[in-house]
Amino acid sequence: MIHLYESNTTCLSINQLRMKLFGKKTLEMIPPTADALYQHIKRAHFQSAVWRQAHVPIPNLPDVLSCGWEKRDDGKLTPTLMTVTATPQGHSALTKCSCKGPNKCSRKACGCVKIFERCTFVCACAGSCLNVYSTPEEHESDSD
Ligand SMILES: [Zn+2]
Ligand SMILES: [Zn+2]
Repeated sequence: MIHLYESNTTCLSINQLRMKLFGKKTLEMIPPTADALYQHIKRAHFQSAVWRQAHVPIPNLPDVLSCGWEKRDDGKLTPTLMTVTATPQGHSALTKCSCKGPNKCSRKACGCVKIFERCTFVCACAGSCLNVYSTPEEHESDSD
């Protein structure tokens, strides 16, 4: 599965590869989280069970609600896309900056600072920078 996204990869897990490719490729080109993939595999498994017993009048099927599907409020089934959040907590998925230089992320030119987010590993600074939201206690404001 990992090799579909990066041949000859040295990554050992799909989450590790997702982290590596995050920000380098478009979201369609990076692997899903292991959690989202697991939900998808469960649905594929259920579907194959349906087809395998297509000739049986009363097929013996697993509980659809434990196979990657959930019931909405209106009673209709909807696929479970994920059970854990796909991004680091409190950080929006598309935020990353490309700051470089000695005072990186100290000003509003930094995409993360602009929206009051701290930098993460997907940023060019990889989180080691002067973003005031990364180090709220120690950093002095440069407005005075
Ligand atoms: Zn920045
Ligand atoms: Zn930064």
